[in-house]
Amino acid sequence: MFRQLKTTLVATLIGAMLAGQALPAYADSGDQLPDMGTSAGSTLSIGQEMQMGDYYVRQLRGSAPLINDPLLVQYINGLGMRLVSHANSVKTPFHFFLINNDEINAFAFFGGNVVLHSALFRYADNESQLASVMAHEISHVTQRHLARAMEDQKRSAPLTWVGALGSILLAMASPQAGMAALTGTLAGTQQGVISFTQQNEQEADRIGIQVLQRSGFDPQAMPTFLEKLLDQARYSTRPPEILLTHPLPESRLADARNRANQMRPVVTQSSEDFYMAKVRTLGMYNSGRNQLTSDLLDALAKGNVREQHAAQYGRALQAMQDKNFAEARRQLQPLLAAQPGSAWYLDLSTDIDLGLNKANDAINRLKTAPDLKNNPVLQLNLANAYLEGGQPGETVKILNRYTFSHPDDTNGWDLLAQAQAKLGNRDQELAARAEVMALLGKLDQAISLLSGASSQVKLGSLQQARYDARIDQLRQLQQRFRPYEKM
Ligand SMILES: [Zn+2]
Repeated sequence: MFRQLKTTLVATLIGAMLAGQALPAYADSGDQLPDMGTSAGSTLSIGQEMQMGDYYVRQLRGSAPLINDPLLVQYINGLGMRLVSHANSVKTPFHFFLINNDEINAFAFFGGNVVLHSALFRYADNESQLASVMAHEISHVTQRHLARAMEDQKRSAPLTWVGALGSILLAMASPQAGMAALTGTLAGTQQGVISFTQQNEQEADRIGIQVLQRSGFDPQAMPTFLEKLLDQARYSTRPPEILLTHPLPESRLADARNRANQMRPVVTQSSEDFYMAKVRTLGMYNSGRNQLTSDLLDALAKGNVREQHAAQYGRALQAMQDKNFAEARRQLQPLLAAQPGSAWYLDLSTDIDLGLNKANDAINRLKTAPDLKNNPVLQLNLANAYLEGGQPGETVKILNRYTFSHPDDTNGWDLLAQAQAKLGNRDQELAARAEVMALLGKLDQAISLLSGASSQVKLGSLQQARYDARIDQLRQLQQRFRPYEKM
């Protein structure tokens, strides 16, 4: 009974949280509780919402097993942007995150941030199915479901709401730490929005399936994927986690099926990138257990040409993970010869070269890659190859530009810190490490690293003024985040 109740509360809150729209930002309103308003979206400016999103994204980076693989980050964001560009009422930028988690799930929160669990790659047979989950999440955001849920909950204390939402986020990211926090914050939160949540679910399906079709994906993929989830729930002792966060009665499946049947059929094939991403995620990131089985590789090898490429890429990845560099090179070479510009292949090729202490081969290949200027994955690869090849000065040149255009990527700052350390630039090393810490939400540590950097340089120098200005910025951020930290 207790378990049932807790599940319902979690589902209710998460369902409401999915849109992540209307949470009060207390920093600007002193200690006053915000007026919850009368219509969706009237309570919170987009700027305030983005600030909440910024806070929780940092918490997510700092506490969740985020997959920070540049290739996969690039793939899911590319796919997400394609869907977002066909959605209406887009009021925030969108960011897509991948978490290493073997439970099938996805959720969205404040400021257009969408989180996908890696298990989705195991479970999605094709790109349209993966896109159907993402389109559903995007629609929770664009329909401002959280704002509406909060208006229904006017009498519940907003503070509880904020705390519960943060705890749910933690629960998703790291189940053990999060559930304890959740049990604490949920005390006293009332029930009663579960039917509302189901209405939200159907709306997210209805809008999502349109987004899916307009983006050129197969609308049938949505009911097909929902049906797979229901099957899984029927035949296992424990339903997939996604059904707790997105309730799925049979009627929801029937509705999705009806809608898909009324749409013009879309004939589409999954992109080669989808298969590459699937193989890479299953091979490298599924909670330490390799899920890139020989059955899956054999099935791919019998498929279309894209699937065949993915099967061979998967075999090369496996050899690389076994540190069998010669075999990895043997599998990869024909793929690379046929598509010398592919970031998937160039990235693996770099790893093989670095494994063999042939950094110069990697550098020469990457330097002449046609897409180097536009592709952040290749830039990071080249920066890393220079570092491994004993040329940290070149690494710094690339990363000074890279961190300017991608300030939210910890990979860039982390590599930059290593290169500065090799060069003996202690202050710049500390400053780069500070940026990593800030992105992980560890603002105290970031500030203390920057103080260290500031004390390393000449008193009154331009460099010192820069470090001190950055410290001021982070202190302001800390002030703005303080209300959320107490939740
Ligand atoms: Zn949903």
